[in-house]
Amino acid sequence: MPQNLRGMDKSVDYLIVGSGIIGLSIARSLKRRDSSSTILLIDKEEQLAAHASGRNSGVLHAGFYYTADSLKARFTVEGNKALKQFCSDNGLAINECGKLIVAADESELPGLDELARRGRSNGAQLEIVSAEQAKEIEPRAHTFERAIYSPATATVSPAQVVTKLAEVIQAQGVELALGVRYLGFDGGKVHTSGGVVTCGRLINAAGLHADKIAAQFGFGLDYTILPFKGLYLKYAKNKTDINTNIYPVPNLRNPFLGVHFTKTVDGTIKIGPTAIPAFWRENYKGFSGFSAAESLVILSREADLFLRNSFNFRNLAFEELQKFNKRYFIGLAKKLAPGIDENGFGEFGPAGIRAQLLKKSSRELVQDFVVEGDEFSTHVLNAVSPGFTCAFPFGEYVVDEYIL
Ligand SMILES: Cc1cc2nc3c(=O)[nH]c(=O)nc-3n(C[C@H](O)[C@H](O)[C@H](O)COP(=O)(O)OP(=O)(O)OC[C@H]3O[C@@H](n4cnc5c(N)ncnc54)[C@H](O)[C@@H]3O)c2cc1C
Repeated sequence: MPQNLRGMDKSVDYLIVGSGIIGLSIARSLKRRDSSSTILLIDKEEQLAAHASGRNSGVLHAGFYYTADSLKARFTVEGNKALKQFCSDNGLAINECGKLIVAADESELPGLDELARRGRSNGAQLEIVSAEQAKEIEPRAHTFERAIYSPATATVSPAQVVTKLAEVIQAQGVELALGVRYLGFDGGKVHTSGGVVTCGRLINAAGLHADKIAAQFGFGLDYTILPFKGLYLKYAKNKTDINTNIYPVPNLRNPFLGVHFTKTVDGTIKIGPTAIPAFWRENYKGFSGFSAAESLVILSREADLFLRNSFNFRNLAFEELQKFNKRYFIGLAKKLAPGIDENGFGEFGPAGIRAQLLKKSSRELVQDFVVEGDEFSTHVLNAVSPGFTCAFPFGEYVVDEYIL
């Protein structure tokens, strides 16, 4: 069971802020390097997987989308294998349902071919299949001339993975304190809602709040989080109507993959996620997590991007906001699988919010993971998709390159 630190002052080798998949994976890697190190992992939430690590699509990606020079390309193929191994070692379910990437029409073929090129150079397993072969894999899928089939893409339950990983690392001696919030630091002492922690190093894996913590240490100063909300619609009619993940060819200038069909670990079908600009960091539903000060900063940033139309933000915002309209949203999914029953969709499911980094000076969305730090602190920024898939090798990388 997670422990609570309230009222206790502590001294540890490593204090990790954030018990999402990234914080947990870094703790795992630190213990693998030195089993005697003392590690305290804190999270402001009372339960695990409350944010992106429990609110994502649960897809173990195969490595197509990322340019060869990126950290995402370097870790996706290996991360996919490592998480599958973790699931099978720990008796967690995996749905090895594969994935098709389909082209809507001729204009999307160059994009499809670029994905195949990137996938090959990243060492991802893939097959180019004809439109007829694509139909054999998934009778409802529609593609123009050809498609990419990825046998290695699979789905897991992200919350189950996070819970098991927390259990495994606690058994190795990592202390996990839930409901404990990082508040600030001064002179080597870290203030938390549970007391003062003295640590050899602070590791910031705080997801949607990582940019603010990094800035307190003088890092990531040219970055800010621009939150994007991912909504899903569950297809409630029949689990067998779609049997594989079906993705469109995305606009590769943005880090979003477009509305797609996900075949979840229990066979349920859902469409999404959207990438709707959010108005505050934890803008999941209604006014939950609302902060007027934070909202003001984010809204003025979005207004600036909108007016300047940086990275085509105006079109992105218009396109994404339409997805609040269920008919429009379902219409996009129907292009991938025209035979699906549009009346079979239920309500919007729990949303996830991407901790997407914006480079302030150039007003661009950052594509790759970013890590910064010095001998006292390490900050993981932009751990966006496929951050879940990459978590194990990325955790090793952060430890080897930035900590030890
Ligand atoms: C809609 C959506 C779909 C996605 N789909 C996929 C997918 O299919 N496959 C994939 O590989 N990736 C996917 N991703 C990306 C993946 O979810 C993330 O890369 C990953 O979960 C990031 O993990 P994290 O640990 O950095 O963040 P989080 O899970 O957000 O963890 C950060 C933690 O820090 C805590 N925290 C914040 N501030 C403080 C503080 N002051 N004090 C203490 N604790 C604090 C938070 O409570 C939180 O628990 C998706 C993401 C989204 C949003």
